[in-house]
Amino acid sequence: MLIPQEISNDTLHHPLWERLGVSVAIKRLDRVHPLASGNKFFKLKYNLVQAKREGKKKILTFGGAYSNHIYATASACHAAGFESIGIIRGEETLPLNPTLVAAREKGMELHYVSRGDYRNKKEEEFLNELRKTHGDFYQVPEGGTNSLAIKGTSEILSVQDNEYSYICTSIGTGGTFAGISASLGPHQVLLGFSSLKGDFIYQEMADLFSYHQIAPKGKIEIENQYHFGGYGKTNADLLAFIRWFYGEFQIVLEPIYTGKMCYGVFEKIKNGDFPKGSKILILHTGGLQGLAGFNQRFGTSLPL
Ligand SMILES: *Cc1c(COP(=O)(O)O)cnc(C)c1O
Repeated sequence: MLIPQEISNDTLHHPLWERLGVSVAIKRLDRVHPLASGNKFFKLKYNLVQAKREGKKKILTFGGAYSNHIYATASACHAAGFESIGIIRGEETLPLNPTLVAAREKGMELHYVSRGDYRNKKEEEFLNELRKTHGDFYQVPEGGTNSLAIKGTSEILSVQDNEYSYICTSIGTGGTFAGISASLGPHQVLLGFSSLKGDFIYQEMADLFSYHQIAPKGKIEIENQYHFGGYGKTNADLLAFIRWFYGEFQIVLEPIYTGKMCYGVFEKIKNGDFPKGSKILILHTGGLQGLAGFNQRFGTSLPL
């Protein structure tokens, strides 16, 4: 069982926000566990409980070569005493990037499949092949979103967070957004910032909510104007913002999720989208493991 550490909300100060009459605080989910950080801690927690209940010794999951979910699974399995197998999309590239090095150091067995085969990852036939190769395992989907993950992310907010009028988080597969929506207060708005390009995200979230029968307890909104060209895409503006944020608050963000979300929140404040008196809580969902790989791949020097 993974035990979360106490996390507090830190208030961020900026003259503009004071002038506009809004307050901003950040919840440091990146500090929730030394081994399994961020929202992935909450997504994995009940899956590992369930795997143990089923008597499984191995956890198998899927992801790209820089995936936070791959690293988090390796790390959480290491902490909770499971073996882990990562099915990685695409060919092996040597030397291994920092994400995969770290996953392997946590004991994860890495197994590469072609992009074509990877698309079959939900097919029974493909899973049976994996069972032949790897033996019995507990499967966690790519990105980690399933009903137990949503149960976990519904524990991200606590009673002390009732005082906020807006909760802001980023959206990948939406498991975090869905869980939080189920634990909102009726007076609260959950603002999700999609890291992916396109309007499909509205339908995808509607499908996710209906599949898991989630009824949001407050208001939910999805913002899809801050994807910076799509998943994994960035530009100079975003990287400059991440550097500025670090200089201003000494808090590290990464460019795939939290950087885009915070950029969006700050733009929206500037645009006057939050009424005077708004109390905004930003969720730092972690993902910092990916920074070393990002810097290496793109020759950047974002703060770590
Ligand atoms: C995975 C991840 C997300 C997205 O979470 P979903 O539940 O897939 O929407 C957001 N932020 C970080 C840092 C992540 O690693």
